[in-house]
Amino acid sequence: MKKEIKLDDFKKHYTKDISVIPKIKKIINENNLERKYNLIIEYICDSIDNDVKKNNHCDFQEGQCIANRLGKSTHENNGCCYQNKVGLCKYLKNERCEIQNIACKVFMCRYLESKGVKYDIKKIFPVKLFFNRKQVKILEKNYFKTKEEVVCLLIENS
Ligand code: SF4
Ligand code: SF4
Repeated sequence: MKKEIKLDDFKKHYTKDISVIPKIKKIINENNLERKYNLIIEYICDSIDNDVKKNNHCDFQEGQCIANRLGKSTHENNGCCYQNKVGLCKYLKNERCEIQNIACKVFMCRYLESKGVKYDIKKIFPVKLFFNRKQVKILEKNYFKTKEEVVCLLIENS
């Protein structure tokens, strides 16, 4: 664990939205590593979810995202929630993801990237102050894993 970030730094560099300050305070003050990591994952996932929803990037209509509808995706429906050689992701239930996974949230298909839609967790949350380089990679690359599985990996590599 690296040095703690000050709340003022967070307000200055990461968000202008004061409604999230209680969540940030909670993360900063949490001393239990497992709970702290859970809170950070929840914070990043909620931030991306809110932004994607606000901007309607994926524009789902009757189970098809914009890339599905335009033929810009390998799949005809359910967006890009497919695992290579496995098929539809088991965590997709009633057209909703039932887990919080940062790697999946950050992933944007080529079509959306070509429209300039891209998320970088380092710009959403000061991950470098809380995680080492290996842990940041764990957050960014472990698709299809539950929050509990990712937190275990983070603790193992802390
Ligand atoms: S990222 Fe692209 S393929 Fe995935 S759900 Fe959004 S629009 Fe569809
Ligand atoms: S875990 Fe990833 S691939 Fe699976 S439903 Fe959730 S967002 Fe989609």
